[in-house]
Order: sequence, then structure tokens, then C-alpha cells
Amino acid sequence: MFYLGLKQQLSLVSPPVFAGVCRCFVGVSRCRSDPRGPQWTGYAAVMSSLLLLLLPLFILTPTTALEFRYHRNGEIEKYLRDISTSNPDIAHVYSIGRSVRGQQLWVLVLSLSPRHHSIGIPEFKYVANMHGNEVLGRVLLLQLIDDLVRGHRNKEAWSVQLLNSTRIHILPTMNPDGFDDAGTHCQFSQGRFNHNGVDLNRNFPDAFAGKRQQGQFVEETQEAEVRAVIGWLRSETFVLSANLHGGALVASYPYDNSNGGSEQVGGASVTPDNDVFVHLAKVYSYNHGSMHRGDSCKDGLSFNDGITNGYQWYALKGGMQDYNYVWAQCLEVTLEVSCCKFPPKDQLPALWTENREALLAFIRQVHLGVKGRVFDSFGVPVQNAVVEVKGRSNICLFRTDKHGEYYRLLLPGNYTFTVTYPGHQVLTETLDVPHGPDRYSALKHDFLLRRAADNSTHYTPTEFSPTPTCNYTLNVEGRCGAVATPTWTGVSAALGLWAALRFLSD
Ligand SMILES: [Zn+2]
Repeated sequence: MFYLGLKQQLSLVSPPVFAGVCRCFVGVSRCRSDPRGPQWTGYAAVMSSLLLLLLPLFILTPTTALEFRYHRNGEIEKYLRDISTSNPDIAHVYSIGRSVRGQQLWVLVLSLSPRHHSIGIPEFKYVANMHGNEVLGRVLLLQLIDDLVRGHRNKEAWSVQLLNSTRIHILPTMNPDGFDDAGTHCQFSQGRFNHNGVDLNRNFPDAFAGKRQQGQFVEETQEAEVRAVIGWLRSETFVLSANLHGGALVASYPYDNSNGGSEQVGGASVTPDNDVFVHLAKVYSYNHGSMHRGDSCKDGLSFNDGITNGYQWYALKGGMQDYNYVWAQCLEVTLEVSCCKFPPKDQLPALWTENREALLAFIRQVHLGVKGRVFDSFGVPVQNAVVEVKGRSNICLFRTDKHGEYYRLLLPGNYTFTVTYPGHQVLTETLDVPHGPDRYSALKHDFLLRRAADNSTHYTPTEFSPTPTCNYTLNVEGRCGAVATPTWTGVSAALGLWAALRFLSD
């Protein structure tokens, strides 16, 4: 607000007065004998002092707020680089790979530790423009960056607390090639697909496709943009995510697909974390200016509370949100943020106003539930320990990452956790979980394992059946390179030792 106010003050200064102040700034003594009299001289002196005080702000801050328009891909790259260069303490830009036509997929990360993960700080992401002609998300995410950076610079609590507690990754366009080809029609699909004519939201490995098809998840079947996102998911332990689309006004949550098993409930395909997903979707729709009303777009479909189960709306294979949830233990929802896929430019400020609070409130949900680390009997954090919550049989088990960390998004209540790791006793603990988003932190709880006696029976974690290939291999390009399949080997011990050393140095 202060930043906006400052700009308004400047624009109110008329050119002749402003010029006069500048001259005084150069030579104060000349102003003292100004023929306009002592009153004018005093005013000029005050203004020049004010300018001296404000000068650092002009140097450190952009002179204009981000314009409401559709920035080209090259302009987005420049904007993200500028933000990163001028705010190295909280911003960092990186690419997760290239599109089919070779355009970089740029991500801006905002955090107090923008270059590296910090233990206990959850990783969050927003992705937009996966369908090249659904463009409002690009605008919203750029405005969000502008807003967060400006808020942090002005020490506004809402921004400072978010960046202190969260690492926020923002990919404004996942399909820059499609955007270049996009028509501006509200409903048509010109530009929806990538340069190979593939719908990227049908191109991810699918947990419900059956084992035979899962075996076909070789890299040739995945588009460059999808491989880039898969590599990204393996390089960071994302906890919560949203994927911004257009053409409807609704928050849609997993699953998008089903194979007719026990996940099908009343026409929906329901995840074990359905309560959390419904909450997440409602956080967006109720903080949005109108989504929660469930008004229909021109297709006549309306949605209770402005939310829907993806499968119940329409089934789709190979969607990104199912992939995030099943394989990357990242809860993702799909946000349809405008009835018109390519809204006229003059509507952008109002559409930003409708979405701003919802975008911020959704990020805060990354602090739901419980977070912590799992330590072995030597006090070393361990990778690939299974952390299960009773009553939630995930298709692929939630495991600790290379730092020995786990994050479980849960609504307030009592939950029984079971932690398993080879060579150690099964640990069961019940935790009383409060509401974390208000405090910008999930409940912190570490699990300390004890070595199993040699004659103890081994516990097998309850993996949901039929089990997909949770540990299939897929070579990915980009900065991550090929990522090792999770295994219960000595590698994890080495990583654990490394993590322990890192922990001691934190
Ligand atoms: Zn879409």
C-alpha cells in the first residue's frame, strides 16, 4: 500500500514544481535567493529533503507496478530475471527444462531461502498455462509475484509471514509454445496443446491405467513439458500445489480417473485424503470473489460450493493432479479461474481482485497437519521411512525424503501414525493435530525409531491394492538428470549420514 501511495504522490507532483525541486537539490544556495520568496524556498527545501530520504527507494524498487496485460514469453522471462536480480534475498529464478520448441520453462521461487530447501519449511507450487490458450493463470501468477515481493519489501505481515514460513515456486507458463499459437476466443481450443499437438493434462503416467500400460511409461511417451514437471517433482518434495486453468469457474480435486475399484463412491473417484481435498478446494472457492456461488458458465454446469471431484465432473486419464498426489505425495488441485479462456485485457484488474485472496489463502494451507523427521536408532534422519496415517491407504505410500522429512496435510483432529523402516521396530503414535495455517506452521513432530531385536517379526506396510508401479523409473532431462528409484539400500544410509551432518550444521 505504501508503495502505491508513494507512486501516487509522485504522479501528483506537477512537472514545473518537480523540476524546481530538482534544481534545488543540485544547488540549495541558489534556491535561497529564489525570487518566489522565502515561503517557496522553505517548501522546496522540505521537498528536497524528502527526495533525499526517498532516493534509495527509487533505486531499489521498480518504478511501475506490473501492467495488467498478456506478457509474451520473453517478457515473462525478463520480468522473472529482474525480480530475482533486484531481490536476491527472497527470489531466485530457475528453469525446469524446455518446451518442444526449446523455450525454457522458467520458475520463480520466493522464500527467505530461495536457492535451497530448509528443514521444516514446506515446498509449495503454482503452475499456470498448461493449456496454452487458458491464459488468465499467467497473469494471476505474475501479479501474485509482484504483490508478494512488494509486500515483503514493505514489511507487510501477510507477505513476510508467508515467505518466512514457506518456499513458493511459481511456473507462470508450462506450455509457452501453445501460448504462442493461442487464439483469443473464449471457448475454442486453438493453442491448447503443445507443439506436438498433445494435451499435456492427458500425458502423465496414470495410476489407474493398469499395470500393462504403466509398464509403457518410458520416456518416449512423455512430452518434454511433462518430463520437465516430473523431474521437478523429483527434485523438490512438494507438499501442496495448484494448477491454474480456464474455461470454467470451479476448484477440482483428485481423482480425475478411476478403474472402477473401491475409490468409486457415488459417482466420484475418492482419495483417502478426500476430507483434506474438499477443504483445500473450498478454501479457494470461498476466498474467491464468486467461485463459491457455483454459478454456471455458458455450458450451464453449476457446482455446489464452487468445487467438484474431478472424476465426477468428467473422467480423464493422465492428468497432472492425480500424478502429483499418487506419485509425488503432493496434494494438487486444478483451479478453473475464468469462464472465458482468454478474457479481454480490460477485465484483468477485476479478475485479479477476485482471485488474490484465494491465491494467498490457498498457499497458507501448506501448513495444515503434521511435519517432522524420522530418525533411526543412531539419531540419523532416514530416507524412505514409511509414514502412514491410520485409515488413509495411499496408492503409493508416503515416505520420508532425502532429508528424512515427512509432511502430512491433515485437518484438525486425532490421528494415529505408523512409521516403518527396515531393521527398526514399528512405531505407532497418536497425535492431536491443531489447525496450522493460522500459525504458519504445521504441528512439528519427529519420530524416533528403535532398533528391532533380531528375532522380531517384520511388518509390511499396507500398500493399497492393486499397487501401481510406484517406483517405476523414468529418465528425465534438465537440471535434475535421471533420478534414482527409491530403494531401501545402503544409499539411504549414506544420505542419512549426510542429512545428519547437515542437520548438525543447521
Ligand atoms: Zn485447461
